[in-house]
Amino acid sequence: MLKKELGIFTFGQLLDLFPYRHVDKTSIRNISDITPQTEYILLSGTITGIEVSGEKRSKRLTAILTDKTGSLELTWFQGINWIQKAILPGTAYLVYGKPGFFMGKPQITHPELDPLQSETAEARNFMEPVYPSTEKLKARGLTGRSIGKLTFNLFSILSEKDIPEILPEFICRKEHFPSRWDAYKNIHFPISQESYERALQRLKFEEFFIAQVRLGLIKSSRHRFSRGFIFEKVGSLFNDFYTHHLPFSLTGAQKRVLREIRKDTGSGRQMNRLLQGDVGSGKTIVALMSMLIAADNGYQSCLMAPTEILAQQHYESLSTLLKELPVQVEILTGSTKTAKRRKILEEAANGTIHILIGTHALIEQDVQFLKLGLAIVDEQHRFGVAQRARLWEKSKLVPHVLVMTATPIPRTLAMTAYGDLDTSIMDELPPGRQPILTVHRMEDSRPQVMDFIRKEIKLGRQAYIIFPLIEESEKLNYENLMKGYENVKAWFPEPKYWISMVHGRMKAAQKDENMQRFVKGETQIMVSTTVIEVGVNVPNASVMVIESAEKFGLSQLHQLRGRVGRGAEKSYCILLTGNKVSREAKERLGILCATNDGFRIAEKDLEIRGPGDIEGTRQSGALNFRLANILTDRDLLEKAKLSSESLLENDPDLDLPAQSALKKYLQAGQGKNPWSKIS
Ligand code: ADP
Ligand code: MG
Repeated sequence: MLKKELGIFTFGQLLDLFPYRHVDKTSIRNISDITPQTEYILLSGTITGIEVSGEKRSKRLTAILTDKTGSLELTWFQGINWIQKAILPGTAYLVYGKPGFFMGKPQITHPELDPLQSETAEARNFMEPVYPSTEKLKARGLTGRSIGKLTFNLFSILSEKDIPEILPEFICRKEHFPSRWDAYKNIHFPISQESYERALQRLKFEEFFIAQVRLGLIKSSRHRFSRGFIFEKVGSLFNDFYTHHLPFSLTGAQKRVLREIRKDTGSGRQMNRLLQGDVGSGKTIVALMSMLIAADNGYQSCLMAPTEILAQQHYESLSTLLKELPVQVEILTGSTKTAKRRKILEEAANGTIHILIGTHALIEQDVQFLKLGLAIVDEQHRFGVAQRARLWEKSKLVPHVLVMTATPIPRTLAMTAYGDLDTSIMDELPPGRQPILTVHRMEDSRPQVMDFIRKEIKLGRQAYIIFPLIEESEKLNYENLMKGYENVKAWFPEPKYWISMVHGRMKAAQKDENMQRFVKGETQIMVSTTVIEVGVNVPNASVMVIESAEKFGLSQLHQLRGRVGRGAEKSYCILLTGNKVSREAKERLGILCATNDGFRIAEKDLEIRGPGDIEGTRQSGALNFRLANILTDRDLLEKAKLSSESLLENDPDLDLPAQSALKKYLQAGQGKNPWSKIS
């Protein structure tokens, strides 16, 4: 019987369908205990009278329940015929429900009613679970209640050996966790609130722990078994560039990251490294020098950027820096002309091109390399996991991979979504940078803001004015931006002020031309949507004005702000909003005014918006934990990570007999999140 009803479930699946709350039926109370504050209550008594009154829609059934301390009314407005047949006057019942008061007297509408089995009234010895039911389950006749019954029956035929322990003993002992069997029993049918909490903690930990062990195994097996190209030496290209063409001295952080990359690429295993460096920390030069090491060893590299503007900018700055070296650099984007494209494809395939820069056009099937040794992805949060995976198909052996991001990833996310990547952090800005001063201004101080821009331009600086993207409508977007542009022009009517504009609807060539005029200083103001959000580098720009700033996410604002403060001059970021802003928005913008630290901002952003909204994580599924939550349970996550590390350190392949249950569980693919392999 149970088996048949369970048709759509395995036992395991049913056990993993957790209740979202419990009702406490563990003690029977008296009718005289009921107060207006009483939530749900379990009573036991005899039905002493039944009456049906009213007509049609106002029809109702009232029954009187009496116990030794008093009596109250039970009322039904629905299912009256059925109730009327089912209730037997003079019989004892267990009644459960939420009392209300009517004319000063307690009553319960639509209570749960169960005949009392024995003469001695007995409460349940566990708290009753309430299960969610989806439309799909309902369609198969499975309501929350019937799931409860199935689960209850299931426990009556299972025993401890059916839910064996998988956590290492040293962890259970240290954390005082209940056994796995106990935890499962108590998450469904706890004997008390306290035992429920203990079960919940343990199962949440288990979820995190299993995920961490999986990632740990992937990472360590890659460290030991993956084969990668060996970049044996640092050769003449790198050295020549370092001594003769590098326009500044490297920061300590840049040097450290280059050493890490050098070590990875020389090790014989494939590098899979995530480089997190705050905006302006100088990741481009690290990318360039890594690509020179590849070239020194006879390998090609590619550098993939999320936007055409950024690809173009990388192309220009890299070609300039490398112009005296025998390195061929090319660019391939969606707007590359057919003939040129054909030539580039040919030269990538025959090995003539050393460094190919581009947008996602790089991952199209027909782009093939002779010897792709290093693939760098800039600002990866714009690239989907699947897209990245296609990069690896470009040669027989998987190239070394360096993923660079200026949106620091909160630690909790880094541990879950990117847990199998090695990470480098650049937490040092090049010397001489002054912190950007950020302020929040409202509409009525617009004249002062515009005056301020004017003042900065007179000092020879440049300014950005950014308009938000309205997701719902491209047309509205465009109109909004145009209005903004006209507005700015009206503030700067004199012929000596030149304004560039860039937006998503523009043709690539025109976008580029406008961008270049701003880069070269021919225009002083850049009016734009967020297309310039990442990567764009114009060190002379010192003012960033963001219109309707409350419409942006914190990390996005931080990115935009990162477009200024890239030179030696003091820079400013002005967050403009209407005169009326919600308290929440004010608070959010306040965080930005208070700190320039991208890591802190990313944490706050995650806290405020929740993990589901952080770009790039939705598809990674990093958040598909059933019970645990990476934000509210971050202490458990931290613990799980440490435990997993100490376990794998002593037993890297889980070969010790003590871990055989865990190993079996992992090998069966149980408790698996789809994100166990990201790279
Ligand atoms: P991001 O990490 O945001 O990509 P970039 O690589 O665009 O930063 O670098 C930002 C600016 O800092 C560029 O103008 C770059 O030339 C400059 N820069 C990078 N490294 C150094 C350094 N070590 N010393 C001085 N300036 C540097
Ligand atoms: Mg960059």
